[in-house]
Amino acid sequence: MSATLVSLIRAGNPLVLVETTDELRAAEMVRAAAEELNRPRFDWSLTSGLRDGSALEHPLIPPGEVAKALDYIWGSAPDRAIHLFRDLGPHCKDAKIHRRVRDIVGRFGQRNSSLVMVDAGGVAQDILQLGVAYELPWPTPEEVEQIVKQTYHRLRQQRVEEISSSLTRRQLEQLVNTLRGLAPLQVERIVTSVILEDFALDEDDIPKVVEAKRYLLGSLGCLETIAVDVNVCDIGGLNTLKHWLKLRRGGFTRKAQEFGLESPRGVLMLGVPGCGKSLCAKAVAADWNMPLLRLDPGDLYQKFIGESESRLRQALSQAEAMAPAVLWIDEIEKAFASASSSSADGGLSKRMFGTLLSWMQDHRHPIFIIATANDVSALPPELMRKGRFDEVFFVDLPNCETRGEILRIHLRRRKRDASQYDIPALAQAANDFSGSELEQVVRAALFRAFSEGKDLSNEHLLAEVQATRPLAMLSREQVHELRQWASQRCVSAD
Ligand code: ATP
Repeated sequence: MSATLVSLIRAGNPLVLVETTDELRAAEMVRAAAEELNRPRFDWSLTSGLRDGSALEHPLIPPGEVAKALDYIWGSAPDRAIHLFRDLGPHCKDAKIHRRVRDIVGRFGQRNSSLVMVDAGGVAQDILQLGVAYELPWPTPEEVEQIVKQTYHRLRQQRVEEISSSLTRRQLEQLVNTLRGLAPLQVERIVTSVILEDFALDEDDIPKVVEAKRYLLGSLGCLETIAVDVNVCDIGGLNTLKHWLKLRRGGFTRKAQEFGLESPRGVLMLGVPGCGKSLCAKAVAADWNMPLLRLDPGDLYQKFIGESESRLRQALSQAEAMAPAVLWIDEIEKAFASASSSSADGGLSKRMFGTLLSWMQDHRHPIFIIATANDVSALPPELMRKGRFDEVFFVDLPNCETRGEILRIHLRRRKRDASQYDIPALAQAANDFSGSELEQVVRAALFRAFSEGKDLSNEHLLAEVQATRPLAMLSREQVHELRQWASQRCVSAD
């Protein structure tokens, strides 16, 4: 279990760093910690100055005087005090302030005092290294339920319009589950907006909340909730994998634990592009009734330069808060590839990879990981070690029978009766096609038919098959190498 703020302060840490945009919650936790430990508390921000936590109306140091505030806590504050400083990070770029913070950390170590810096981000690495990081825990389901109820009652009191709720207990639980992994303020905002849309809180609001949450998480950039519109019947072939997943379907239930089962941890799926790895991630989430969270590790580098590590930790703790969930780590090799070589990124990818591996090993949340990869040569060997994943599957190009099955699936999805087409002949002609290329054949043939003002015929499909140069044909050597490599190390998904 991760350390609490109280335990970090009690352990005598002179500097605790809290990176969050939920400043109010952080301040409330500092207040509660001071109360629990019976310690004096001081509170500083640039706009309100330094105040004694027990007499907030008179500032000890007026607003705007950061250096004086730091001098004060360095020289005059009592021992064992807790000092909450909001947005101090940017001021530490100033050499004098920076120096003072280092002095304080040295002195507080002896005085058993703590400086708690609460910042939305952007604290320099050398300051971060002076202290310990504390991550605000996400609200528990009970707390989320409490916020939903409080928001509903507050709106009922404040608004002249009649506000009603027809949620059953089960629907309320579903709503609360959907709101997990969000900060209290975000929960409150989402609930307020769905209620005010029609002055009611009912079952119809659950998909709206999913959407609002997806939007919010999307804006975080590296953890995205994915809409799932497929199920296991939409996957052609991959029978071994499907059977394996079916056996583990109830693995997270209380009944399974009581039976003595360990929760499934996850699978690594390697293989030829476009053969259904991502499709499987979606189908598992749908079949197991869990939200699907997609972590794009590539984004961690590209969008959040300088913050990659903390973003990864944030994404993982967000996934924990949303558990039970399926966490899909897409193209895992892209982000952690350079961890396998002596990379030029100052060890960043190695550290990120280490963070991910130890999280995978240690976390105790009902999270099923589906990691997908195309380029096996770039995978660090530690990832393949036994015990990391429950199984490593290789997803190959579909054989002739499976190609027929995939064509049928995509015809059916587009409301065509597959028995009207010569599927065995088409499957034969589409040698070396991937699942996604077969889907593309059906889509393109439909366009062709539509533009001719006719319904889809076998000729349309055959013409598209003949016009396609499958990727596997273009990169025959790579596919061959991949197969060779996988035959020694992986279980075939089919
Ligand atoms: P990549 O590594 O390039 O992301 P992938 O292996 O994850 O590829 P998917 O994204 O799952 O492949 O496949 C793309 C699309 O191709 C799917 O959404 C699906 O419509 C179709 N497809 C691929 N494989 C299959 C399959 N076995 N059965 C049915 N459809 C498939």
